[in-house]
Amino acid sequence: MSRLSDDLRELYRELILDHARNPRHFGCIEGATHSAEGINPLCGDKLRMYFRVDENGRIEDARFEGSGCAISVASASLLTDTVIGQTTERALAYFAAMVRRLASRGEPAESEAGLDLGKLEALEGVKEFPTRVKCATLAWHALDSALNGRGSTVSTE
Ligand code: ZN
Repeated sequence: MSRLSDDLRELYRELILDHARNPRHFGCIEGATHSAEGINPLCGDKLRMYFRVDENGRIEDARFEGSGCAISVASASLLTDTVIGQTTERALAYFAAMVRRLASRGEPAESEAGLDLGKLEALEGVKEFPTRVKCATLAWHALDSALNGRGSTVSTE
């Protein structure tokens, strides 16, 4: 491939390492309105996502705690960066877009219109490592469980 794509890949790698080493919004939320845990037994990732949603359905705050590999932690960090300030509906649209992209099921759908996938595209590099896809989508599945009111633990297995 072109040099540009190598540069982009390096940029994405650095972005993921940065978020893994210095996770944004790490910790729990006192009085969270929504919460769910994600477990990926294959890798040993265990993360709990917290959200505080206001009466208008907007995510005021998002945090996570737990432990996991660099990819699962970076993904959770990028997730919180992305969904704070968004409506829950839009956050779930991001979830759908990320799962579709990482599972490489077809072309981007119309439902992605208006989403700023920006930095999240860095996670798409894991498609080259199928066993790591579950690490990258773990936090997103927990978001889905939390915001859809199930609030149960989600496991990739
Ligand atoms: Zn992992």
